[in-house]
Order: sequence, then structure tokens, then C-alpha cells
Amino acid sequence: MAPKPCFIANWKMNKGIAEAERYVKDFIKRYAETSLAPSRVIIAPPFTALQAVSKQVKCGDFEIALGAQNVHYEPHGAFTGEISAGMLCESGCQYVIIGHSERRTLFGESDEVVRQKLFAVRKAGMLPILCIGETFEDRRAGKTWDRLQAQLSAALTDDLMKMGLAENVAEWVIAYEPVWAIGTGETPKPGEVEEIHQQIQAFIRKHVGKGIPATLYGGSVSEQNILEFMEMPNIDGVLVGGASLSSETFFKLIELGVSEKQ
Ligand code: PEP
Repeated sequence: MAPKPCFIANWKMNKGIAEAERYVKDFIKRYAETSLAPSRVIIAPPFTALQAVSKQVKCGDFEIALGAQNVHYEPHGAFTGEISAGMLCESGCQYVIIGHSERRTLFGESDEVVRQKLFAVRKAGMLPILCIGETFEDRRAGKTWDRLQAQLSAALTDDLMKMGLAENVAEWVIAYEPVWAIGTGETPKPGEVEEIHQQIQAFIRKHVGKGIPATLYGGSVSEQNILEFMEMPNIDGVLVGGASLSSETFFKLIELGVSEKQ
């Protein structure tokens, strides 16, 4: 059975507490005024706004899940400026984005660090939003799948399975985000993304085998292109950066995306 369409807002380093609260209030109002088919909506604000957003999303019968944009893999200790998985749980997070290309490229996070973060997230009982993506050079060299497979293999190790941390893999999210498409206005063709999603799902089926996570596309998603992506059977949703900063636009994307999957 296809998962519920899933929409993730990654605000990155944008919005303080007051702005975050206004956004969620406006978003909930729009939701209450429309009868949308069920979908999974996750908002990932900066750490400082997590608690404020978490209080709002618990209001009423409409539920937005809360995601963090990053985590440290150690549970506590002398790691100035870092936040642990336990702290995120306490702030109301159900999801954590790991392996985002901005973390990999701007902050030097290796595949090994991503693996450790995945462990920490699962041990704390949260769900990962695991981001993978090729660079433009990988793509030009015809090595897109090699890169994605390497990232998946590095994250989904046998240990994870042996420790029973991947039993609920069907509830996870994998976001395919080509590095060259993030924030650039450039996107791959929806048919290319569909093929890659099929490869990702086949990989998970073979190496984890406990169900298939929602497989999302991310990179310059907009009102103009969302329908072409959501039309593809194995694109279960989208991870949105820039276009999620306005509650009106993010809501519109969900409306369009959900209607395409009905
Ligand atoms: C992202 O940050 O993951 C992203 C997809 O950003 P944008 O939508 O701005 O390309």
C-alpha cells in the first residue's frame, strides 16, 4: 500500500520563535478551512523554535509532526554547541533530518557521521529523514546511483538491523535530494527521479526488508513543478526548503500534492 503523501518543511536557519508561532497558527487556520485528504506533514524549524512549534502542533485535531534539522550522535558530554537526540525528544521531535547535503558539504559530515546520527536517532525512538544525493560532478560522470548506493550502504549497516533499530523502516523517510538541485531552481526530470526512487526502494527491500520508507524528492520544489513530481507513482512526497518559508506557499504545495495522489 502506498504511504500517505508526505510533505516536509525545512526552514533551515530562518525564523525566530514569534515568526514560527505566526506561521504555524496561519497554517493550522488554512488547514481547518480546507478539507484535505490525509497527509503526513512535518515541520523542521531551527532548534530555538522547536518547543514553541511543538506546543502549537499539539492543538486541536490537526497534527503536524515536528522534526529537527540536525542532531549530535553522542547522548551527552563536552560537545559545545551540539544537541543530543534525547534533548530533541524532550522538545517534542518525532523526526530528525540527517545527512542533508548542507551538513555534508558545509560542515564536513562524512557518511560515517551520518551513520552514527542514524543510530542515535533510532536509539532515542525517533524517526530519521535520511537525505541522500549526488553532486553535479557525480551526475556528469554517470555515477549518480554509485553515490546514492554508497550513502545508503554506509548508513544502513548490519549492526542497525541486528540491534533491531530498523524494524520500523516503513515509518522512516528517505529524501532523494540531488545536491545541484537544492536552492538552485534546477531540477532533474520527474522520470529520472522516479527511476532513482525505484532503485532506492529496491535497495531497502534487499538490505533491510522490513517495509519501504516514504521516498521523497527534494530540490527546488515549487508550485510550478510539484504536480509533475507527485504524478510519479514512487514519489511519495517532497522535502521543501525555500518554498516552505511562507505558510501560504507550503500549504498550497500540500494541496496540490495531495490532489495529485488522490
Ligand atoms: C532542502 O533544503 O532540502 C531543499 C530541498 O531546499 P530547496 O527546496 O530550497 O531547494
